[in-house]
Amino acid sequence: MRIGIDMGGTKIEGIALADTGEELLRIRIETPRHDYDGTIAAIAGIVRDLEAKTKQKGTVGIGIPGAISPQTGLVKNANSTWIIGKHFDHDLETALEREVRLANDANCLAVSEAVDGAGAGAKVVFAIIIGTGCGGGIAIDHKVHQGLHAIAGEWGHISLGWMTPEEYPGIACFCGQRGCLETFISGTGFENEYEKQTGIRKRGREIAELLGQEDTVAENVMQIYENRLARAIATAVNLIDPDVLILGGGMSNISRIYETVPELVQKWTFGGEFTTPIKPAMHGDSSGVRGAAWLW
Ligand SMILES: [Zn+2]
Repeated sequence: MRIGIDMGGTKIEGIALADTGEELLRIRIETPRHDYDGTIAAIAGIVRDLEAKTKQKGTVGIGIPGAISPQTGLVKNANSTWIIGKHFDHDLETALEREVRLANDANCLAVSEAVDGAGAGAKVVFAIIIGTGCGGGIAIDHKVHQGLHAIAGEWGHISLGWMTPEEYPGIACFCGQRGCLETFISGTGFENEYEKQTGIRKRGREIAELLGQEDTVAENVMQIYENRLARAIATAVNLIDPDVLILGGGMSNISRIYETVPELVQKWTFGGEFTTPIKPAMHGDSSGVRGAAWLW
């Protein structure tokens, strides 16, 4: 049995896969935010639960919103900032009394979708997670392209391209820079724009529901979002020109973006052509957790 864990900024999901790839069980809990020991305990608890209920022992793969630095062995670049600078893999191994494999969550998504998902058959897959934060991962020939510093594909921390005077210089990002595209096109960025226009804080899901009710403010916020997402995608295309773009994370569930965004992107691609398919992750919100399981 393979166990996959997807550690997100708001939820932690665990899945148990049979050797055939069939899903046996799934558990989802709230992330103990800003609580490192609590996060370790929560992940260990999910693994114990999955094993108790399936009466099997599994290998454990974990997708995290960040990376283990090849230079120091410590977590870096996580928007779940309380795991930064920690020996997260070692601490999990101690708690679980076994070896675990960790990978960046967007890299897990890229590999999962390249192997048997929406990117099957493509040579170069660029996978994007637009959730609480914003991650990117590159799979080439079904393998993660991690890079020397484990930051390949980390496109969320490029500044938003072609900023308008109203957008410039952008708000501070957890990474220490200002105007990163994550702060605009993550679910949090979407909620920020709605709050900026209305003074009211709503969850991304609630704003998306307003779109179906012909709410003009929500519609305006969505159009601004789509324009920004198109610019962000054009930036990625101008750099790596992948064969397919796969979207995961909460914002990827808003289905209209697959119709509205492609025709916007070409305005910013070098040469003005854009034919790259933009697809939702085939395994939906489960792609990350499945990709984590497939680390073994
Ligand atoms: Zn940043």
